[in-house]
Amino acid sequence: MTENSAFGPLVHDGSMLIDGEWVPSADGRTLPVIDPGTEEQVGAVALGSPADVDRAVAAARAAHVQERWMGMSAQQRSATMWRLSDLIAENVDELARLESLDVGMPEPTAQAMIAEAVNMYRYFAGWADKVYGVSAEIGPAQMRFQGFTRKEPVGVAALITSWNAPMIGNAMKLAPALAAGCTTVLKPSEEAPLSTLALGGLALAAGIPAGVVNVVPGSGPVVGAALTAHADVDKVSFTGSTAVGKQIVQAAAGNLKKLSLELGGKSPMIVLPDADIEAAVPALAVGMFWNSGQICTAGTRLLVHEDIAAEVADGVAAASRAMKVGYRTDPGVELGPLVSRRQLERVEGYVAAGREQGATVLTGGRRLGEKGYYYEPTVLTDVDPSMTVVREEIFGPVLGVVSYADVDEAVALANDSSYGLASSVWTRDINNALTVARKLKAGRVNINIHRAGGVQLPIGGYKQSGWGRECGPEGIAEFLETKSVVTRMWA
Ligand code: NAD
Repeated sequence: MTENSAFGPLVHDGSMLIDGEWVPSADGRTLPVIDPGTEEQVGAVALGSPADVDRAVAAARAAHVQERWMGMSAQQRSATMWRLSDLIAENVDELARLESLDVGMPEPTAQAMIAEAVNMYRYFAGWADKVYGVSAEIGPAQMRFQGFTRKEPVGVAALITSWNAPMIGNAMKLAPALAAGCTTVLKPSEEAPLSTLALGGLALAAGIPAGVVNVVPGSGPVVGAALTAHADVDKVSFTGSTAVGKQIVQAAAGNLKKLSLELGGKSPMIVLPDADIEAAVPALAVGMFWNSGQICTAGTRLLVHEDIAAEVADGVAAASRAMKVGYRTDPGVELGPLVSRRQLERVEGYVAAGREQGATVLTGGRRLGEKGYYYEPTVLTDVDPSMTVVREEIFGPVLGVVSYADVDEAVALANDSSYGLASSVWTRDINNALTVARKLKAGRVNINIHRAGGVQLPIGGYKQSGWGRECGPEGIAEFLETKSVVTRMWA
């Protein structure tokens, strides 16, 4: 395969990775890759079809049945995963370039995300030889049994990701899947397939056997739907919107696949009246606007006590105005464009709806320039909890500020959502923080910081933010089956 000049040495032009080979799609079609900062096409990758899904799933099944990966010793798998993490770290500049070309984020942001992905492969490399069950002696004295549990890989896992942070999204799935001994088919978002293709090549180079990591780029309704309905896929781990998550639940019913669903969010940041406002304001702005608000856990609802609401809203608006928006390689740029025209129009539509419903645009509210999908960080006030901008996930740089009168109202507002992914509480009083944390219906509560967390702790959703957890011990459990083995003991 030829090397694509825009894509560099890690991505093979017009190809996907199946059974350790770079191959074109079965029908020869390709998927254009657009730089969201310029709106120009920079190249194309293979566009997968249902036939490619069949080939990739067959390769993953063969690798599973032949135990090419789970048959290696746990120590060998751990060392191989660590080699993969080293290769990712060695190629961080090139991977960050690809990620930022695809998604639009500034290269330093992509580098920080890839550093986090490296941590995830290392953390789960450490788990590979720590997967074991329990033992128990069972029964009355006259007929005793000795039993134990085995933890086994669930089998062939389809890993379907969103476009907003592909290297992290992949790591949260691929690292535990590999540590568990699964074989995999990765389906990156059609908006950002490059780094996932590069990752597939690095997995091969690290010594992960052919067929264990397959990568099939393609559209959700074709490749994603074929994977989730496939009778030979045992498990789907999905990151994306709640609407698509519900479709996957139905598609997976045919063979009752195991499912993990990391879905949308509308996460609250609750500022109590005793918060350190000066320290909080810049961190609230980052909690909302990092990666241009295209983060599932973004703090999109700012709930502030009425006594300090105006001061906090003004502060966050000023901090957001100070954030430099621009092209991914321009010096000092903190926020890139949105990923696509569709996403830009979605954000424009939500802000227009907010205006119509009576919200005030305190800052932002406009597209920036005419080329590239840039949008100003936007703060909306006079926001009522019933407004669309507060109820629905926008997945862009739009913050809604809602004021409350007392802490019970704050908790009620925070929990008044169909989502329950993340949240944060801002206060000088740890007792207040822990009291609110206990009452929030969310998979994560951060205190005096919004954007925080690490691979050691699970992340996932209450309510319609999903099923299951990623990261931490729960992350690997999602890729394991438990088998009980019982033997009779003769007296
Ligand atoms: P999306 O749901 O449109 O797409 C996600 C993935 O699913 C893509 O790879 C897409 O091709 C695929 N897909 C689309 N239709 C499909 C179908 N019918 N069957 C199978 N796969 C299909 O989401 P997106 O726009 O890529 O990402 C944004 C969403 O992802 C937001 O809702 C965001 O909150 C969510 N997200 C969640 C987390 C988390 O950890 N909870 C992390 C990042 C993003």
